[in-house]
Amino acid sequence: MRLSEEESTDRIARVRRDLRDRVVILGHHYQRESVIRFADFRGDSLKLAQLAVSRSDAAFIVFCGVHFMAESADMLRAPHQKVILPDLTAGCPMADMADLPRAERCWAELNRAAVWPVIPITYINSSARIKAFTGRHGGIVCTSSNARAILEWAFRQAPRILFLPDQHLGRNTARAMGIPPEEILVWDPDQPQGGHSTEALRRARVLLWKGHCYVHQMFKISHVRHFQNQDPPYTILVHPECAADVVQAADMAGSTGFIVETIRQSAPGSRWAIGTEIHLVERLAREYPDRTIVPLTRFGAVCATMSRIDPPHLLWVLEAIAAGSPVNVIRVPEEDARDARLALQRMLDHS
Ligand code: SF4
Repeated sequence: MRLSEEESTDRIARVRRDLRDRVVILGHHYQRESVIRFADFRGDSLKLAQLAVSRSDAAFIVFCGVHFMAESADMLRAPHQKVILPDLTAGCPMADMADLPRAERCWAELNRAAVWPVIPITYINSSARIKAFTGRHGGIVCTSSNARAILEWAFRQAPRILFLPDQHLGRNTARAMGIPPEEILVWDPDQPQGGHSTEALRRARVLLWKGHCYVHQMFKISHVRHFQNQDPPYTILVHPECAADVVQAADMAGSTGFIVETIRQSAPGSRWAIGTEIHLVERLAREYPDRTIVPLTRFGAVCATMSRIDPPHLLWVLEAIAAGSPVNVIRVPEEDARDARLALQRMLDHS
């Protein structure tokens, strides 16, 4: 941590060169520039996990993202590979909002109230234990790019879904499918029966776990209106983890992959206000200087835990691999991995 940025950068480049194909470095779109410059691949969480699988020649997968992403890579990796997270405190607060004891209690309460059948769906931004819970109960994983296809699949199996842990992605997807607000309820895991009567639960088609991403909650409808009122106006592009009023007022909404691709295909001279994590927006602005690209708000849309992956931590884990004693290896217990893979595989089969 005492090294200058220049020293860390030089040492990372040197050890990276020495390790050659033994290591693949993955960088999430929200990662800071001083780290992502060393990534062999950039992408969203699912794309990165799939890329890791495709690089089975690499004995070590260094995942510059957050904990649940490294867990997904660990569940999909080849047996001889190890997944490494440079800082173990790089978690996802939204994923942490859904824990196994409260999810099991929710399931038991729905069962007791005969609110049945229900298909659980978990956003990929969740712990391996929640993915395992979902797999055990006939459910499925989704991402922000395939959420609609996954909900459609679930409604072919049952009249009702339980969506964890992000209420906003669940609500935005359900609303886009034409499900009216009165058939969508938020399940508060700290209230008996999620805070609802049995009759209300039986009328609902979508039960949303009360979780959210604090980064995407920073974008407000007033920010959308501000950029729409400019002359000429900006096109507003947001992530579906934003609140429903922001998503509905925006011109476009989609996953980080969709945002990157939309900007790549946009015309020179076009103007964009983007509602997602600031590192991605600033990178797009740098990569496309012939377009005007600004964050939907300048204040605070930083994923603080993702930012814990910094050059000193990346250097530390790479040098530990080179020294033959890898640190921060992520290992999902096999009993969780087995059930979680069921839910992941259903997603791969149905999207
Ligand atoms: S941006 Fe939000 S959902 Fe993504 S890792 Fe950070 S807290 Fe989690």
